[in-house]
Amino acid sequence: MRPTIIEDIKCRRVLDSRGNWTVEVDIETMYGFGRCSAPSGASTGKYEVAAYPQGGIDKALLEIEETIAPELIGMDSEEQDVIDLILKNADGTDDFSNIGGNTAVAISLANARAAASSCGIPLYQHLGGNFSTELPFPLGNIIGGGAHANNATDIQEFLVIPVGAETVTDAVMANSLVHAGVKKAVSGKKDCVSGKGDEGAWALNVDDEGALEILSMVVEEVTGETGIDIRMGLDVAASELYKNKKYVYARSGKKLTGGEQIDFIVELIKKYSLYYVEDPLEENDFDGFSEITKKTGKACLICGDDLYVTNEKRIKDGIKKKATNAVLIKPNQCGTLTDTYKAVKAARDNNLATVLSHRSGETADDSIAHLAVAFNSPIIKTGTVGGERVAKLDELIRISEELTIRRAKMARLPLFSEEA
Ligand code: PGA
Ligand code: ZN
Repeated sequence: MRPTIIEDIKCRRVLDSRGNWTVEVDIETMYGFGRCSAPSGASTGKYEVAAYPQGGIDKALLEIEETIAPELIGMDSEEQDVIDLILKNADGTDDFSNIGGNTAVAISLANARAAASSCGIPLYQHLGGNFSTELPFPLGNIIGGGAHANNATDIQEFLVIPVGAETVTDAVMANSLVHAGVKKAVSGKKDCVSGKGDEGAWALNVDDEGALEILSMVVEEVTGETGIDIRMGLDVAASELYKNKKYVYARSGKKLTGGEQIDFIVELIKKYSLYYVEDPLEENDFDGFSEITKKTGKACLICGDDLYVTNEKRIKDGIKKKATNAVLIKPNQCGTLTDTYKAVKAARDNNLATVLSHRSGETADDSIAHLAVAFNSPIIKTGTVGGERVAKLDELIRISEELTIRRAKMARLPLFSEEA
């Protein structure tokens, strides 16, 4: 019998970083073992697949035990597309509402890990072959609000990316120095500090521009100390702000029309020399995205998260409209590794940068570090501090060490490499 044949599947509930239950799946083959637990979003996109069936995790676990496991046992874990098709057929809908996208993603990735382990190779090599020699730049969340924190900014995430880092270790260090630097910058300012958000970013009692001012000051300091060029970015998560056709900024009292929101974002990009802006507009406004992307040109990556929900078809619609120059990739938005790969391929074939991403609710699962390397993604978005965030960053450091033998380098960052 082939060593990659699935012999057993187990599932259980485990806690995620928000203290909510999530699904974890173990897959055993004769010579291998794979485990994966699913993340979960708070500012989920309207067009994502359903995370769980009606009946929640209990129903999901029952589905695995009674329906899915018996079908998968005896199948070859190396045939990822067949495994993923079985998951889709077991669900029978186009949004995973019967078994849950989180159920599917935990099985799909546990399967890939089992196949890799059966062959005695790491996941990134199993998926990417011997040609994975580029390492992604970590995009780290430093200050956060929106749906991830209270008493904080309207904009969900204020991010940094150490564009000048020459190694993963330096890049990870630069981001963590900025995180620590912000704590120092606000300590003693009582009206400024309120705590941490779901992703470990500082939840500051300031408005959006106040956060950008603090962040840019700290970025300058850290660049001075380390010599590493660092740029800022935002995840506006604008669908969360959009109410009755206006973008409502509760803290500042601003209510912007779509056109005003575009002007506001374009101004922020110019004023703060932003490298990256995710979801500047609500999830249906492809034309508005096109306008921002056209206006900002090669100055900034405009990335779609809720806009695309890791869905190949939505990404292709975006490509037709030139809506963005970057795509966020979250495997549990679509439910399977095969569909995740299709989303990555659609983006890459059309020169859109991919950003492999965590969710606000995470576990210590480090699969996305492997996916970022396997899929040659130039950027990985996975927070800065906290056990569930550093699990991915630390794995990336280990992968970079393994890859020195192949003289792996940091990826060519979009926008920069075009200028060079
Ligand atoms: P979520 O947020 O995981 O809560 O959806 C992360 C993001 O919007 O990128
Ligand atoms: Zn987002």
